[in-house]
Amino acid sequence: MITFDNTYVQLPSEFFARVDPDKAPAPKLIKLNTALANELGLDAEWLASPDGIAVLSGAAVAIGSEPLAMAYAGHQFGGWSPQLGDGRAHLLGEIVAPDGIRRDIQLKGSGATPFSRNGDGKAALGPVLREYIVSEFMAAAGVPTTRALAAVSTGERVQRETGMPGAVLTRIAQSHVRVGTFQYFFARKQSENLQILADYVIDRHYPEARNSENPTLTMLSAVMERQAKLIAKWMCLGFIHGVMNTDNVQIAGETIDYGPCAFMDGFHPNTVFSSIDQNGRYAWVNQPNIGVWNISRLAEALLPILHGDEDTAVKLAEGAVEGFSDIFNDALNAGIAAKLGINVDSAFMQTTFKVMTDHSCDFTLFFAELTRIAAGGSDDAFVDLFVSQDAAHRWLEAWRVVFDPALLGGMTAANPVFIPRNHRVEEVISSAIAGDFMSFEKLISVLETPFVEQPENSEYERPPTADQVVHQTFCGT
Ligand code: AMP
Ligand code: MG
Repeated sequence: MITFDNTYVQLPSEFFARVDPDKAPAPKLIKLNTALANELGLDAEWLASPDGIAVLSGAAVAIGSEPLAMAYAGHQFGGWSPQLGDGRAHLLGEIVAPDGIRRDIQLKGSGATPFSRNGDGKAALGPVLREYIVSEFMAAAGVPTTRALAAVSTGERVQRETGMPGAVLTRIAQSHVRVGTFQYFFARKQSENLQILADYVIDRHYPEARNSENPTLTMLSAVMERQAKLIAKWMCLGFIHGVMNTDNVQIAGETIDYGPCAFMDGFHPNTVFSSIDQNGRYAWVNQPNIGVWNISRLAEALLPILHGDEDTAVKLAEGAVEGFSDIFNDALNAGIAAKLGINVDSAFMQTTFKVMTDHSCDFTLFFAELTRIAAGGSDDAFVDLFVSQDAAHRWLEAWRVVFDPALLGGMTAANPVFIPRNHRVEEVISSAIAGDFMSFEKLISVLETPFVEQPENSEYERPPTADQVVHQTFCGT
């Protein structure tokens, strides 16, 4: 049993299409996130039962669930798509968790909807496991994110480059409203619906904005602030989202849509992962620029309801968007300083990134080994991350001048020892496709405590060997 309390379904009919998920022919539970279920006040035992699995696969519609596909639009890689929407996802409904926060329960990969265009509405096993692993790691690392409640296989084959086992992910989010949801109504000149959506978002995510002089403007600024801080957090982990399209920018500020995303191994600021991102639009270093661009699209979509006077509306919008860079820079500087165990020192941080680039230092190990040195360990493993030992020793000498031992605790909390390295994720997916989920379980368990030393799992710290390097992750979801 799930105690649903649905609000989105009460919005005007233009907001969604009522549609039931497909009935998976032979659903099997791959993984239930019991800890998350408990946190959300859901009955884990029931979820893992045949009745629960039927709901998690779309084979049955739970009592109180009112499945729907949400309407939205979006800019994808800069190009405008007036109609996207949930083409392979069903919002089952909402719950209010014991923390008082309302959450969406959504199935992803659960069949076609009126928004599917040419897609089949399905998900292959690989992308479902990738999203499970990476989103749960993000949560463990303290990054705002949608969560993975469960993964089930459907017993169906889906056609991708080859035939693949089908699967469904149960995604939990503070909501699935995106920048693209606002764009959908803006593009259709439906100002009334735009206002209804803004009111909905304010009530659900930014209630404090209600008492301000201009709640819509306050909401815009608050969304901007959450995005700026979120992107800084990604960058501090070497994370590249890969598809920062406006339909993948969630209004509540959680990381959403783990498609061709990955964490960098060897550092280079221009690293991209998506095979369709030829121009580096969504490269690691370019993420804040795209963040501003995406927030500008939100600001633009809000213009009709920001102010009665158009010029004033534009000025208000511009003012809100302008705030991004300071908030982002402060968050990134503070985050990188914490990783280095120093007070903010822009010049030293610039030098550090230059050296890391020149030596293609492994991003995660650079900071993890530095933390070990800060805690009294030897320099050896750190020095080995560089092409030349001299350069490593020189950098360490400069670091020792600015390092503050009082900041060691913060360093440990900022520098994961374990991340979902792309080659590990690919390895897990290959095994799972072959029917073996042991490596999936193992990786999940290692990543539950990413900041804690686990000497018995030290092989999970390692970057890929030359033949393990994954060159591209595909959008093939
Ligand atoms: P994404 O790249 O995951 O953000 O998805 C972009 C859009 O494509 C969304 O509207 C999705 O619903 C849609 N989409 C992606 N894959 C499929 C699929 N297999 N079937 C139908 N729609 C899809
Ligand atoms: Mg998306």
